[in-house]
Amino acid sequence: MKRRMTAAVEKRPISKRRYLPPPEFYAPEMCSRCGVCCGSTDGHPCEHLRVDADGKYLCEIYPDRLGPHKTVDGQSFVCVPIRQLIESNGGYACCEYVKAIKRLREEMGQDTSDLGRLDRP
Ligand code: SF4
Ligand code: SF4
Repeated sequence: MKRRMTAAVEKRPISKRRYLPPPEFYAPEMCSRCGVCCGSTDGHPCEHLRVDADGKYLCEIYPDRLGPHKTVDGQSFVCVPIRQLIESNGGYACCEYVKAIKRLREEMGQDTSDLGRLDRP
């Protein structure tokens, strides 16, 4: 799914000294399609966010999603890869990628306090 980033959250980098997975970790199948990272729960969803018959969210322009877009109420933001979002600000606690990274860190005995710092909107 999408990934939104505003200037405000970009200023909250997480620790690069703790484990972060490689690009291949971010398999699309791991995404639950909750749509939280595209604004499904904050009242300001991306104008390209759609919901299917099963109630799962999807991006109507997925192959071309990265770059500047607007919310349905006209706010500008930049859509970035979920890896960039997580490595920039820790991502959402409810995100399946964040939860998986947390589990891996815990197995390594590493701190996870920098992950999932964005509250579910
Ligand atoms: S373009 Fe919008 S709906 Fe698509 S992935 Fe990016 S934020 Fe989500
Ligand atoms: S918050 Fe995570 S699990 Fe939910 S749609 Fe975004 S990438 Fe997928």
